[in-house]
Amino acid sequence: MTFDAVVAVDWSATSGRTRPGRDTIWTAEANAAGLGPARHHPTRHAVTGWLIDRARRAVADGDRILVVLDVSFGWPRGAGQALTGADDPLALWDWIAERLTDRDDGTNDRFALAGRMNAVLPGDGPFWGRPATMDVPGLPTGKPRGRFPPWRAAEDAMIAAGGAAGRPKSVWQLAYSGAVGSQTITAMAALSRLRGALGADCAVWPFQPPDAPVVVAEVYLAHVDPVERAFRDGGPKDAGQVRAMAAGLRRLGAERDILAMPDHPDAATEGWVLGIGFEDALPDAARAAARPPGDCFALPPGVDWVPVDVLMRTLSAIRCAVGEGDAGVADAAGRVLARDVAALRANPPRANAAVDGWGFAHATLRPGPIPVTPTRAAAGHDGDPVPPGHAARILTGAALPPGVDTVAMQEDATAADGTITLTKTPRPGANTRAAGEDVAVGDPLLAAGTILRPTDLAAAVAAGHATLPVRDRLRVAVLSTGDEIVAPGTPGHGIFDANRPMLLAMVAAWGMAPVDLGQVADDPDALAAALNGAGADAIVTSGGASAGDADHLAAVLGARGTVDHWRIAVKPGRPMALGRWNGAPLFGLPGNPVAAFTCMALFARPALLAMAGAGWRPHGGRIVPAAFAKAKKAGRREYLRARLDGQGAAEVFASEGSGRVSGLAWADGFVELPDEAVTVRPGDPVRYVSFAALGLG
Ligand code: AMP
Ligand code: MG
Repeated sequence: MTFDAVVAVDWSATSGRTRPGRDTIWTAEANAAGLGPARHHPTRHAVTGWLIDRARRAVADGDRILVVLDVSFGWPRGAGQALTGADDPLALWDWIAERLTDRDDGTNDRFALAGRMNAVLPGDGPFWGRPATMDVPGLPTGKPRGRFPPWRAAEDAMIAAGGAAGRPKSVWQLAYSGAVGSQTITAMAALSRLRGALGADCAVWPFQPPDAPVVVAEVYLAHVDPVERAFRDGGPKDAGQVRAMAAGLRRLGAERDILAMPDHPDAATEGWVLGIGFEDALPDAARAAARPPGDCFALPPGVDWVPVDVLMRTLSAIRCAVGEGDAGVADAAGRVLARDVAALRANPPRANAAVDGWGFAHATLRPGPIPVTPTRAAAGHDGDPVPPGHAARILTGAALPPGVDTVAMQEDATAADGTITLTKTPRPGANTRAAGEDVAVGDPLLAAGTILRPTDLAAAVAAGHATLPVRDRLRVAVLSTGDEIVAPGTPGHGIFDANRPMLLAMVAAWGMAPVDLGQVADDPDALAAALNGAGADAIVTSGGASAGDADHLAAVLGARGTVDHWRIAVKPGRPMALGRWNGAPLFGLPGNPVAAFTCMALFARPALLAMAGAGWRPHGGRIVPAAFAKAKKAGRREYLRARLDGQGAAEVFASEGSGRVSGLAWADGFVELPDEAVTVRPGDPVRYVSFAALGLG
């Protein structure tokens, strides 16, 4: 049973907000685009909300998603029934959710609740363990001789299997080193919330048949301990575990039915650990997934030169790789909107005047001078009610006072002796704006995936938003390679590193977070070390991308990551390496600055935007007349450095040589010539892609 995505969660009962570190909350996702970075969540509320959103997105996309958590989904036989009256673990989750207070700031009252549960459950305990400083009625500090067994059938099975799982702790133990009881209580409450939010779209294994789009199951993260180190990616052990678990389960799920119902009779009430029975296969699958042979970047078999269209189709499989959070509107420019946003309030919120003038109730007017009531309504200053038959001074933007439905323009009235006389009678309702005439509450406003422009911010604020749900910025690392490359200003004849400032600036211009990895020589170990330090969602390198002797990047990727060489049927820039390093997609651009720019702008950009959550946006372009003549052969698509002349026709840079970096500064766009042979004469239609349309204006 293949899952489109597997999300592994390392749960934690820690009180308060946490920073990334050990024993806090981590998630990682494996999907068709590969294995994402480990993501830290500051509180249980935050991660639960994130999981609900992620699951809903899967449902909306028609995807199947497996969400696994390292907590016990039930208690040893009989305890749930003694508490809730039903032998139904899902009823137990709801029972706990109703009683546990787990606040937004991460603080919770699990110890007090455990004390109350002890009072109801027969015998001493079963819950025990609490901070020494905390006096909780009914909750002993030491282990009581309770009536309930310490382990479920699942733990018994793991203890019998030995190996990495070792000797699990009992769910009754709430405190001290390695305790897991508190995690179970807090997770049950959160899982109840998750189920409530997803309804029939969610199935809990093994309590329900796993045939919903979202399947939630329990895992034991220690099952991937044999391989987790390779997955840490600079993070703590928890990060390595969730990444290895997500990668391993997705891989294994494609090969066999991992969600077959466990045949132990108690599994249906106590829960079961997904992973029992394939203790060796799971870490093996994680290891294999780290080097997928059929990666989404793999060249179609038998293909040598790849047409640009095939490259683009392959790249378009890349999925969003970042989380989301709320940003103040002032900080949201250039960010990717994470969800559809509707109006929270009407715009304008109240009916108001569209001009400076005189307001009155149209139906109460009598012929002749109209007495003026002394009140004055201005923007931000409400006026008093206006009696029937009277008029009042009203200024643009002022809320219509009670008794006013029409405004006469100042120019259409003469004022004298406490009265006005209309020189032109307005229509009923004239010169007013109705409440909500622009936007009504609930009107769709902005679509998920929008890259927020200044205008979008104004619309959002006018419709009541102080914050917006935005994607985390995609972190894109940039590395230059080559023995001849030196820092600008270095004496001698080295080649100044022109690519890095350009590529970093492109990343920033696209609203992503650039990570400068500097420059390394053509040395495999130095390259690997630099790439290992990336700490990014995606990596862009330049230089060494072809398969030549000195092209160490390709060699290192081949040996230690994954790589697919693409000889792209494009000019400039045909050698491009696409691969993965520690799970992060890597775009190995050619070293030549013109080729590097072209490949980055036209090929890496849409893939990076898709990873950033903005959806698939390949370059477009528009048809303009050519201001040049050229004949080209069939076989490669060509991108000429171009700019529009005063008549809107495209002229091209004098030299097509890709060494001519000056042409980059001369141009303000590309002319795209098709794969086929063409002869272009002045005035012929050609496709022009402006740098501005690529976010690089
Ligand atoms: P390569 O792709 O490594 O074979 O490099 C192709 C050409 O681009 C060579 O002439 C390199 O010197 C040049 N080149 C590579 N990297 C850079 C860079 N960061 N800045 C400027 N030129 C570069
Ligand atoms: Mg080189």
